[in-house]
Amino acid sequence: MKTDPDQAAGGAPGGDDEGVPVSVKIRERLKAARHRFHSNDNIAEFIEPGELDKLLDEVTVKMQGVLESMVIDTESDHNTGDTARRVAKMYLKEVFAGRYIKGPSVTEFPNAEHLNELMIVGPITVRSACSHHFCPVIGKLWIGVMPNEHTNVIGLSKYARLAEWIMGRPQIQEEAVIQLADLIQEKTQPDGLAIVMEASHYCMAWRGVKDMDSKMINSVMRGVFLKDANLRREFLALVPR
Ligand SMILES: [Zn+2]
Repeated sequence: MKTDPDQAAGGAPGGDDEGVPVSVKIRERLKAARHRFHSNDNIAEFIEPGELDKLLDEVTVKMQGVLESMVIDTESDHNTGDTARRVAKMYLKEVFAGRYIKGPSVTEFPNAEHLNELMIVGPITVRSACSHHFCPVIGKLWIGVMPNEHTNVIGLSKYARLAEWIMGRPQIQEEAVIQLADLIQEKTQPDGLAIVMEASHYCMAWRGVKDMDSKMINSVMRGVFLKDANLRREFLALVPR
């Protein structure tokens, strides 16, 4: 079925797009706007009110199909009767909500005190999943901010909210920290920004090499953290690991 993207985007008042899966409508809008929709991209602005619940119904049906193809008798097995719905809800509204909802509102204040000392926030708990296997990625991150007089100040808890929104998507750790750095950079405009993330990847513990103890640590350094080796050392020394 061919869908005119303009019509799909406008929601066709005549209802002649009835029967088109809601995921197709959202996808058409994304393509018309040339907006990337990789697993770790947020697509909230392309979802109209009420559509997330329709998406939940659609994913439930598809998940039920997965269970059927796995030859699980969801009709007589009391444990899996509602699993398709639970998994769909977990993906769309819980663990991957960072794809489907708009970012947290963050109030920025001018730096009235002219703070210009290194500030470190953390550890912030990270809960994510890898986009390769949809296995949990659980860990911690630390954020270092080097403000200047023009830097906006945001509340400490807001760093955790921004991190939760970025991590609540199927992610790749290297890309996740860059997305988070870009977002904090945009909101606060500091002289320097540093992020260190340390996480256990359950695709290494539960499957694959079954190594329970391996952790991945990575970092991004921006601005003065790149130029000033002493500042970088100070930050890394203060991050307790
Ligand atoms: Zn993986």
